[in-house]
Amino acid sequence: MDKNKLGLIHIYTGNGKGKTTAAMGLMLRASGRGLKVILGQFLKGRETGELRTLKLLPGVEVFRGKPLTKFTFQMTEEEKAEVLRSHNLFIQELAARCVEEKADLLVLDEVIGACGTGVLDKTLLLDFLKHKPEHLEVVMTGRNPSPELLELADYVSEVCKRKHPFDKGIPAREGIEK
Ligand code: ATP
Ligand code: MG
Repeated sequence: MDKNKLGLIHIYTGNGKGKTTAAMGLMLRASGRGLKVILGQFLKGRETGELRTLKLLPGVEVFRGKPLTKFTFQMTEEEKAEVLRSHNLFIQELAARCVEEKADLLVLDEVIGACGTGVLDKTLLLDFLKHKPEHLEVVMTGRNPSPELLELADYVSEVCKRKHPFDKGIPAREGIEK
């Protein structure tokens, strides 16, 4: 395959279910074509079904940022600063890893949420996207992307919730939501 054709930026957003799983579907496809894939997950602490499977895919590496133990509005200024520092470092580490490993696809799951809640410096993300390796394809997920992110993206796909069983009291189920 011609890796020189890679290098576009994707956003999966919206209030419906399917953003993270769509990004992972793309990882599955990329791995099947022999691409080197890196997944960086923001704001995720608990173990999920996909983490187990992704680790088995050829050419796929998975990293997670420090999970939040409380909501940002419950944090002291010091705690907020520490969380921001660790997330800022995490995205820089991911960027370095992509160069070291000559990654073809980088998935930044919930990076949009991390920017929106102020636990990641959004200018750092924008700078990364503007100066990323030319042939690195990047996928970002999360609700409410900023206009600057939307402007930089080549694909913007919005999952719109028409119905979700959470609204009738059905909580997240193993193997489906987690
Ligand atoms: P998935 O991981 O299933 O692809 P997602 O990435 O689109 O979902 P997020 O916005 O990241 O969804 O939400 C985190 C969790 O909430 C996931 O377990 C997801 O399945 C679930 N979820 C997504 N949309 C809704 C909704 N509208 N109401 C309730 N729960 C939702
Ligand atoms: Mg998600």
